[in-house]
Amino acid sequence: MTLLKSHFEQVFDRIHKAESACQREGEVKLLAVSKTKPAEMVREACELGQREFGESYLQEALVKIDALSDIHDIVWHFIGPIQSNKTRDIASHFHWVHSVDRLKIAKRLNDQRPDELPPLNICLQVNISGEASKSGVTLDNLEALAKAVAELPNLSLRGLMAIPAPAPDKEQQRIPLRAMKQALETINQTLGLNMDTLSMGMTDDLEAAIEEGSTMVRIGTALFGARTYSNQQSR
Ligand SMILES: *Cc1c(COP(=O)(O)O)cnc(C)c1O
Repeated sequence: MTLLKSHFEQVFDRIHKAESACQREGEVKLLAVSKTKPAEMVREACELGQREFGESYLQEALVKIDALSDIHDIVWHFIGPIQSNKTRDIASHFHWVHSVDRLKIAKRLNDQRPDELPPLNICLQVNISGEASKSGVTLDNLEALAKAVAELPNLSLRGLMAIPAPAPDKEQQRIPLRAMKQALETINQTLGLNMDTLSMGMTDDLEAAIEEGSTMVRIGTALFGARTYSNQQSR
């Protein structure tokens, strides 16, 4: 068995155990975060049956998307910070964007989504731990942003995403994750939306995230190993 295959088996085992612990069998999707990893590794993951991949750096992602264009059913998710000058390529090459945190970016993605493609799936990134330096809309401004984004015809508002601040233990991890679930339910109810996606849970908090209602965990390190960054990398 290859190393990658054993890593996938370990991660699926963690997901299945966490789902069972809260009677949520089969409800959680695995998004394999392949940022900084080569196209050949993504191809190997495809051979194991994986189809959903997350990327954070646009230039790097575009090279991989092109290299793997022979695999027609890959679902590409953009999960990194978005600058205005990157929206056109994101809107035309990705199926999902998890990191929308302001209306200006949402409008650009909406305007630049090619006509022949279905609406772009969107998660709003929430700064759930209230860290001053971090991306994400604050809870206070989330409802207004959701309302505006839901009205954009070339976007499909699917849910919320968060990268909580690191926490020392599982009980501490649960607090922001629970607040995300609460926010999703409140906004669905208040605005009459049916957002169905909670994008939360990474290598270190996968179990807590699933137990608190995650529907999509974004896993990089546990699948592909530690990342090394180079200065050459275009962010
Ligand atoms: C890199 C990254 C991940 C994966 O994190 P791991 O801890 O390596 O599993 C998940 N989500 C986002 C937004 C990321 O940038």
